[in-house]
Amino acid sequence: MNQAILKTTIVGSLPKPAWLATPKQLWAPWLLQGDALAEGLQDAVRLVLREQESAGIDIVGDGEQTRRHFVTTLIENLEGVDFQHKKTVRIRNRYDADVPMVVGPVSRPKSIFAEHARFLRAETDRPVKYTLPGPMTMVDTLYDGYYRSREKLAREFAKILNAEARELEALGIDVIQFDEPAFNVFMDEVRDWGIETLETAAAGLKCKTAVHICYGYGIKANNDWKKTLGSEWRQYESTFPLLAKSKIDQVSLECANSRVPLELISLLKGKDIMVGAIDVASEEVETPEKVAQIVRAALKYVAPEKLYPCTNCGMVPLPRAVAQGKLRALTAGAAIVRKELKAG
Ligand SMILES: [Zn+2]
Repeated sequence: MNQAILKTTIVGSLPKPAWLATPKQLWAPWLLQGDALAEGLQDAVRLVLREQESAGIDIVGDGEQTRRHFVTTLIENLEGVDFQHKKTVRIRNRYDADVPMVVGPVSRPKSIFAEHARFLRAETDRPVKYTLPGPMTMVDTLYDGYYRSREKLAREFAKILNAEARELEALGIDVIQFDEPAFNVFMDEVRDWGIETLETAAAGLKCKTAVHICYGYGIKANNDWKKTLGSEWRQYESTFPLLAKSKIDQVSLECANSRVPLELISLLKGKDIMVGAIDVASEEVETPEKVAQIVRAALKYVAPEKLYPCTNCGMVPLPRAVAQGKLRALTAGAAIVRKELKAG
């Protein structure tokens, strides 16, 4: 464990236990309340940590067990947002969801994840990653009835995220990752203000900073959208040169069963690459060899010290046994390539 090269990690979410939330469902409501919920969330974090550790994952996370949704749980803790009266909006031009509404200036009255992050840090000796939504993806996951400007709202969110991230760093979190699936959809906005707001969110952090840019969870709306993207997915081509110039340390991309040309990795010179080698849209568990193939292919464009075998995206919609199998396939695949490199 804690190998010097090809360290494994996961993008973020893992399935929740059936006693905590209904399995295979995004936005699943909690099945516990009050003190039982607080205790249940901690138990779930312990559980996913042990699962990652026993699978041999090097950089572990909380599997997002403490949040119902990767964006709205954060937004619902802000002032200026009405989450009682939800609005239906189209997310990433793809699917409708009931989301909170911005009704006034947004602010963060208190820490959002500090308590959970402190618990996570205390529960494992391994390096830990904490995930936050990126500013553009936050803007895209709510209804803005106040600023009426995606850019303005993103700039406000970026400041809030930075305050939150600085607290997480102070608690000993090793990697802070911002999830920006919206970066694969709104390419002009990425150029105009997306990278800048991402950098604001990460400003001043001394821990590793990462951005996760994917083609979404394996839900039908996303799978249908992917079919429209043609034989080569080149969305990363315009974003990566911008990210290469940014201060963000690591970039997470989707490569397993995707049509992303791997040579696009070479546009990210100097960055750490989290290569998605596990498909989260399929319940078929990869063979270690299949994972190894992607890792080998990525190594043509990035040094082994800078390559982190990872999942394509979060695994919350998958059955638990499948997700566990995929974690093991990921570490076994990385081990094959590590051995090959050693034998050199
Ligand atoms: Zn993702």
